[in-house]
Amino acid sequence: MAEKSEIEWTDATWNPVTGCTKISPGCLHCYAETFAERWRGIPGHPYEQGFDLRLWPSRLAAPANWKAPRMIFVNSMSDLFHEAVPDSFIESVFRVMSTIRRHTYQVLTKRAGRLAIWHAAHPQFWDLPNVWIGVSVEDRRFGVPRVRVLKDIRAPVKFLSIEPLLEDLGELDLDGIDWVIVGGESGVRARPMKSEWATSIRDRCQAQDVPFFFKQWGGIRKAAMGRRLDGRTWDEFPIGRGRAPIGRVATP
Ligand code: SF4
Repeated sequence: MAEKSEIEWTDATWNPVTGCTKISPGCLHCYAETFAERWRGIPGHPYEQGFDLRLWPSRLAAPANWKAPRMIFVNSMSDLFHEAVPDSFIESVFRVMSTIRRHTYQVLTKRAGRLAIWHAAHPQFWDLPNVWIGVSVEDRRFGVPRVRVLKDIRAPVKFLSIEPLLEDLGELDLDGIDWVIVGGESGVRARPMKSEWATSIRDRCQAQDVPFFFKQWGGIRKAAMGRRLDGRTWDEFPIGRGRAPIGRVATP
């Protein structure tokens, strides 16, 4: 749990669950796993259990203690809809988000199937104005079906985190999608992202009037590779759809 996050598209992270298991090719070099496993076996460390899934009921209070409004990426170190997270705990997380409304929460999952089932059973959490729901997309086989599921979810902002982008996504239909983030993989074993894969998504965003955020090229030296695409940065946010992000300005 971090009061500030280095992730370009959020302000802070909140991890009422930590740990996860791999589900699709985008998980291969999971940054959360790499980070968590570094601390396995160190008594008293929050990641003493490495990347094994762990619920943290004590962390449910954190958003109430953050007085200034912020954008919060929920479970940057896990997946809220992981099969080992009880329905009742997901409910507790949503209850916090629906109660502490000064923050904007970004819930991102690769478990779109469970998201849909859980969502259908909990209409009291539909259309919460400060809760954005997103799915991760890395390829056509696993990622694109998640987009179809997301379209039936009721949320003020539905977003795609297309990172790591592993192939050309083809004719991605963004109808009903409010925000798209694209990024390449980083780290020593990073799989390369071709510029035309990223520009093709950017072009579709522009054609369908969807804000586009280019997070990074990635690679071994992520900082050196930067985050400019076609000569500029792309830091667009879905302002006006759901609560306006805190301290963020949409670029033209
Ligand atoms: S779903 Fe996310 S957190 Fe879980 S293993 Fe895959 S990349 Fe890591």
